[in-house]
Amino acid sequence: MTNHAVVIAGGGPTGLMLAAELALAKVDVAIVERRATQELAGSRAGGLHSRTLEVLDQRGVVERFLSQGKIMQVAGFAMIRLDISDFPTRHNYGLGLWQQRIEEILADWVRELAVPTYRSRDVTGFTQDDTGVDVELSDGGALRARYLVGCDGGRSLVRKLAGLDFPGWDPSVSYLIAEAQMTGEPEASVRRGDKGINALGRIDDGKRVRAVLIEQQVKQGDEPTLDDLREALIAVYGSDFDVRDVTWLSRFTDTTRQAAAYRNQRVLLAGDAAHIHAPTGGQGLNVGVQDAVNLGWKLAQVVRGTSPETLLDSYHAERHPVAARVLRNTMAQTALMRGDERTLAANESMAELLKLDEPRKRYGAMISGLDIHYDLGAGHPLLGRRMPDLELVTDGGVRRVFALLHAARPVLLNLGEPGALDIAPWAERVRWVNARYDGEWELPVLGGVAAPEAVLIRPDGHVAWVGAGTDDGLCDALTTWFGAP
Ligand SMILES: Cc1cc2nc3c(=O)[nH]c(=O)nc-3n(C[C@H](O)[C@H](O)[C@H](O)COP(=O)(O)OP(=O)(O)OC[C@H]3O[C@@H](n4cnc5c(N)ncnc54)[C@H](O)[C@@H]3O)c2cc1C
Repeated sequence: MTNHAVVIAGGGPTGLMLAAELALAKVDVAIVERRATQELAGSRAGGLHSRTLEVLDQRGVVERFLSQGKIMQVAGFAMIRLDISDFPTRHNYGLGLWQQRIEEILADWVRELAVPTYRSRDVTGFTQDDTGVDVELSDGGALRARYLVGCDGGRSLVRKLAGLDFPGWDPSVSYLIAEAQMTGEPEASVRRGDKGINALGRIDDGKRVRAVLIEQQVKQGDEPTLDDLREALIAVYGSDFDVRDVTWLSRFTDTTRQAAAYRNQRVLLAGDAAHIHAPTGGQGLNVGVQDAVNLGWKLAQVVRGTSPETLLDSYHAERHPVAARVLRNTMAQTALMRGDERTLAANESMAELLKLDEPRKRYGAMISGLDIHYDLGAGHPLLGRRMPDLELVTDGGVRRVFALLHAARPVLLNLGEPGALDIAPWAERVRWVNARYDGEWELPVLGGVAAPEAVLIRPDGHVAWVGAGTDDGLCDALTTWFGAP
């Protein structure tokens, strides 16, 4: 049996990001992926939000994505555009880029990091004991790991076998999504129906059409047929536009569910395996990638033995509320996109409100992931929030904060008197950087905050401790997040 410290079931966006995080932390990690190649049947997600661009920037790979996509304002709530171009972030925008490309870029990076990937096989079962997990594969093989992470999507087998409940809400609407040839589709291709929005749009340089259509009856489970597609087109547009050469036909719903716990001992969940919801707002892939960035360094420290297993409890504690909020906002958006007059009136009211500065900022930050605040107790507003990508003057010249995080290691940024703090017992684990910064400190939504004397930054870019001229609480924070001295 082959051994790895961590086995990841599923090499979609979440599994790939987690593999990269663990590989950067020098953990022996492997992916088991059902698909023979990274090829996706259809286009699925259409892009990345600001915070995801930031986390990729923190690892030094964001240019790979930016160079392939289209920078644009993508944040929206129930189709109401939310412009974030005045936000205090280097990436005050989103990126239009199909999931296929996103996955390919992530997979190339993971390959460079030399992560073994067992393709064309499924994880079919596992048993865990006190020291590890035996993972069964569909080709009859087996792997032994200290931890197994289910990044195996919404129908996650890992979640089911781990006995983790998946409570939530059944669908209120089902959609067909298709990519096909059509002839003579209408100019006004976005049409509101009673239950939401239907749309046809040209893709592949105008050669093909992507259709998203509401079904008359809520369906789920079985594979949709060409007849279902024709029926839905006729119901909305009065014609099937001679639909043919269908390369992708799938169904999605607004089923909304979240795993009650993200961990059962040595088995964890991330991404769609842990939470599913309507695609409205384009958040699913983004939340999954950010789950991976929260979990990666923690799991690495536990595997290495520098932190106790209880550190993994903070993964659920921090990430469950984030996805729970996404579930609520997608349900609200689905409701606000219905086409009856009363819902339209509610949508218009919401649009009016979202033109005001404060609501626009709040909702823009929520959808783009820039307002995430892990509850690390009371204190400076930076505590638990994302560290801004400031331009610092360091002994080694001008450096951006995100550049200091490329290695996925924690950083103690000392902005006050050199040598005023002592982190000697953690010197091997935490990088010490003396720096000066004379500019404003500004956070999304909150605006200006007081300049700190020092900040302890976790590998995921969240602030674990803020210094105000003394080392009060520093040892506790270092011990909590990076292990006992
Ligand atoms: C129509 C549509 C539009 C969307 N638009 C957006 C958007 O604009 N923005 C956004 O952020 N999100 C969007 N999403 C959601 C996004 O596609 C998902 O949230 C994202 O793919 C989740 O990534 P994941 O890696 O967690 O899971 P998945 O992408 O589902 O990956 C799971 C992987 O696990 C593999 N696998 C499954 N079971 C096993 C097994 N037993 N053993 C081995 N391998 C296994 C699968 O082959 C797959 O590669 C959209 C979704 C849909 C359907």
